[in-house]
Amino acid sequence: MKALSIKKLEKVYKNNFPALKGVDLEVEEGDFFALLGSNGAGKSTTIGIISGLVNKTAGQVRIFDTDIDTDPAKAKSYLGLVPQEFNFNQFEPLIEILINQAGYYGINRKLAYQRAEQYLRQLELWDKRHEMARELSGGMKRRLMIARALVHNPRLLILDEPTAGVDIEIRRSMWTFLTELNRQGVTIILTTHYLEEAESLCKNIAIIDHGITIEHSNMHKLLSQLDRETIILYLQNSLQHLPAEFANYDIRLADTDTIEADIKAPLTMNKLFSLFNAHNIEIKGMRNKSNRLEHLFMCLLEKNRNNTALLETIQQTHAETEQL
Ligand code: ADP
Repeated sequence: MKALSIKKLEKVYKNNFPALKGVDLEVEEGDFFALLGSNGAGKSTTIGIISGLVNKTAGQVRIFDTDIDTDPAKAKSYLGLVPQEFNFNQFEPLIEILINQAGYYGINRKLAYQRAEQYLRQLELWDKRHEMARELSGGMKRRLMIARALVHNPRLLILDEPTAGVDIEIRRSMWTFLTELNRQGVTIILTTHYLEEAESLCKNIAIIDHGITIEHSNMHKLLSQLDRETIILYLQNSLQHLPAEFANYDIRLADTDTIEADIKAPLTMNKLFSLFNAHNIEIKGMRNKSNRLEHLFMCLLEKNRNNTALLETIQQTHAETEQL
């Protein structure tokens, strides 16, 4: 079953700005899905429409086969939302925030308390349960938002940049928590600017740009489109020059202690290391020059924008020809 199905979603804001011009998304139940796009691409608008906070102009949204237009309450009951902004009452104790949230979904106080305890413990906030939310650190507030979104046990959890501004330790513990939640069957959709986060967590991915879906794919398939990767290799002993044979490949000396190599046919990793062995060059470490998804993301955006520019030129030429 699809956890989320969005067809031809459009949004024109009151100032006539067309934020969404045809977003299509399909997210399978159980998926861990990344929704990516630059600032202003339309991610928050899409999430706002899914969660009933923003009215759509056109298109269809179904959550677990329930249309948000025909049965909004049922559709909403499937959904837990973690928006970007902290929108809880800062002067309320954590435990009350969670119990009140459960109340909106008709959950009785006893069960609400049990759920609140479960999620506050899992997100390492239980010791703070009687403190006011405003006394929490940024990372704790972020985790409180997640606990609150889960208190009615939603089948689909949407997180809008959950790790923005969160330190690496808390980010890692959030990753572990979300992975475990997904393993237990909760479908997760995530927007993030940390592409290594999307790459390591998500199975499927969509990219939106200027209000349309420009890519919708399996993460591994998408990454396998990469026709080259640049690897940085750290030398055990300094080198002034590379052996002449290296000139047949895209291998360069970045400085006397570092080599950069483009792994691209005919050069493979095996070939690269056989070259090093043949010339007694010892490598003490290596890394990818840039994140693979980041590289692809930039290529896809560039391709889409070139296509859009080309289309606009064609349309303009058409219009000018018609005027003649
Ligand atoms: P993202 O979340 O991908 O950064 P948004 O959905 O927030 O993108 O915004 C998409 C576009 O819609 C942006 O150009 C933004 O300026 C515009 N926009 C967002 N909210 C409003 C609004 N309430 N009124 C007018 N334009 C808006």
